[in-house]
Amino acid sequence: MPASDSIAADARPELSVVVPCFNESAVLDAFHARLAAVMARIGAPWEVIYVNDGSRDATLGVIEALAAADSHVGYVNLSRNFGKEIALTAGLDQVRASGAAIVIDADLQDPPELIAELVAAWRDGVDMAYARRRVRQGESFAKRATAAAFYRVMARLTDKVQIPVDSGDFRIISRRALDALLPLREHHRFMKGLFAWVGFSTREVLYDRAPRAGGTSSFNYWKLWNFALEGVTGFSVAPLKLATYLGLAVALFAMLFGGQLIARTLLYGNPVPGYPSIMAVVLFLGGVQLITLGVIGEYLGRIFNEAKRRPLYVVERVSPAGGAAAMNPP
Ligand code: UDP
Ligand code: MG
Repeated sequence: MPASDSIAADARPELSVVVPCFNESAVLDAFHARLAAVMARIGAPWEVIYVNDGSRDATLGVIEALAAADSHVGYVNLSRNFGKEIALTAGLDQVRASGAAIVIDADLQDPPELIAELVAAWRDGVDMAYARRRVRQGESFAKRATAAAFYRVMARLTDKVQIPVDSGDFRIISRRALDALLPLREHHRFMKGLFAWVGFSTREVLYDRAPRAGGTSSFNYWKLWNFALEGVTGFSVAPLKLATYLGLAVALFAMLFGGQLIARTLLYGNPVPGYPSIMAVVLFLGGVQLITLGVIGEYLGRIFNEAKRRPLYVVERVSPAGGAAAMNPP
């Protein structure tokens, strides 16, 4: 279903803000107040689309209350938790803006005030302006270090597509860049990579990332690892190449080792049965083969998932902005 089907065609806003929300009831009111203040200062016609990603707390109720009180608010309620990348996509699919879409987290780690600068960059003619963190506050050294390592490794592995370092999904996307992004329907979504894939002119806007305002981060190392797997396998075949070179290196080593064994046996005879060396070689080769199979399996699994061609998400309900005002005029 194209996004425009679900919305009255009149009164297209210039800016749409998309906010994925998973268990954010503690911060949503504060977030919306700050967002509304910023958008009022910018002065362009706007809407905000909250995507409730199967929250298990009162998030949907909070969003409904916001929609009833403010005609700028529209929302999408997904049928269950689909994860941030897909929730974001569900929101972007509903964007009505003629000008640009803004993507921001609900937890106030991305300061809504920065939207003014992003919009200024877009008005300058930039298609995609993303917020780049200057420092990460309230995050442990270990998280900062793994994040830094992750971005550097990604930058090396993903050829051609330049994924910006130290940036989240907080950004502004022009209408034409969004139109280029929406047809990318892969299930294994790595939004930062997809944004970069689209191309067009890009600019970074520096800011200081604040600690979470409330609620808890759904971050953990297992998630980060899986995130890294999506990023690498989605944008690079380097691990497959690595498997090839690993295999070549081992074969070369085995040839040299075998040659040396033959030479030694011919020259000196074979005084000791070679049990330890055989075990070492067999175990080593077995390990290399398992690793290589695992790498191939990662890609095969992704092909399997994409081949099913399921829809990305299931919507329980969509309520476009302005709907509330139309139903109960003030
Ligand atoms: N989020 C979501 N679905 C999820 C997990 C997170 O929509 O399954 C939203 C969450 O509400 C927030 C944003 O994605 O607005 C970023 O999540 P979080 O703050 O937990 O991630 P972090 O900032 O630690 O990377
Ligand atoms: Mg966060």
